[in-house]
Amino acid sequence: EDVVDPAVLPDERDVENSLRPRQLDEFVGQPKVREQLSLVLESAMRRNRPPDHILLSGPPGLGKTSLAMIVAAELGAPIRVTSGPAIERAGDLAALLTSLGEGEVLFVDEIHRIARPAEELLYMAMEDFRVDVVVGKGPGATAIPLDLAPFTLIGATTRAGLLTGPLRDRFGFTAHMDFYDPDELEQVLRRSADLLGVQLRGDGGAEIASRSRGTPRIANRLLRRVRDYAEVRADGVVTTAVAAAALAVYDVDELGLDRLDRAVLDALVRRFGGGPVGVGTLAVAVGEEVETVEEVAEPFLVRAGLLARTPRGRVATPAAWTHLGAVPPPGGGG
Ligand code: ADP
Repeated sequence: EDVVDPAVLPDERDVENSLRPRQLDEFVGQPKVREQLSLVLESAMRRNRPPDHILLSGPPGLGKTSLAMIVAAELGAPIRVTSGPAIERAGDLAALLTSLGEGEVLFVDEIHRIARPAEELLYMAMEDFRVDVVVGKGPGATAIPLDLAPFTLIGATTRAGLLTGPLRDRFGFTAHMDFYDPDELEQVLRRSADLLGVQLRGDGGAEIASRSRGTPRIANRLLRRVRDYAEVRADGVVTTAVAAAALAVYDVDELGLDRLDRAVLDALVRRFGGGPVGVGTLAVAVGEEVETVEEVAEPFLVRAGLLARTPRGRVATPAAWTHLGAVPPPGGGG
């Protein structure tokens, strides 16, 4: 099975895979998560047991899939990759689970979107390494219990709060991934530039890092667009000026806001007078799912100090008005 990630275009998947860090010490940033995870892995290896199930939460593109692959690599175990929406029936999941070998890692991306019957099957699988396979239909149906080889489940979710309590409780270790700071993104970019054979000079990397929305996936994507520009319009070398000119061509503003971020801010400020407005109304205004607005756009807008979540709804900060070239209302907006 394949990872289905709406944030990744199919032709980008190969490049993305080639840029993935392979070992924990190649993984940039998230020092707390790395330390905790290395303890979990080290102690499991000493006990010669598969580690506890691991939940990775955080916005898209922060390295959850990469970290899952690193865990498997560090354990020297094979990894099976799937996603919540890909598991439609409990039977599909049962088949997958019974095919896992001892100590294998099962990575389930977007685990909060798993169908309810499959989720219930997962409870027992995670806790007791057992599944009940139902054979037949109606009154004659029988549940046949099957033992599973001990495995490690790694779940990824854009927000741990979206998981049901019983599922969340079955993870022995939960790591929350946070946005990266510009220095860390610059490190990611230097590594990727080496792998792609791109020459970064001066503050070329810093220029890209500052517009990458705190997200390694975006940093790598922008690096490739800047490389294109550098090859076609300059001598192939990415200087600060080349990076700035290239990013202007691709409409990446100085805060790195993307189309969705800008649409959300624009609706908030221009249509709803800066708020407060409910997230449902805001989502309709930009033609997106509530989930997408809440999990993809809002975390960064909040972190960038452009949007506030209040009990009465979403509010644009004065900085948001200024960023859009609008004049904040007297009294601070909202
Ligand atoms: P997620 O699963 O959270 O959406 P991924 O693991 O797919 O994110 O990461 C997206 C890309 O960003 C990867 O291809 C990888 O190259 C890069 N990346 C993410 N985190 C890091 C990191 N900590 N260090 C280096 N590269 C990273």
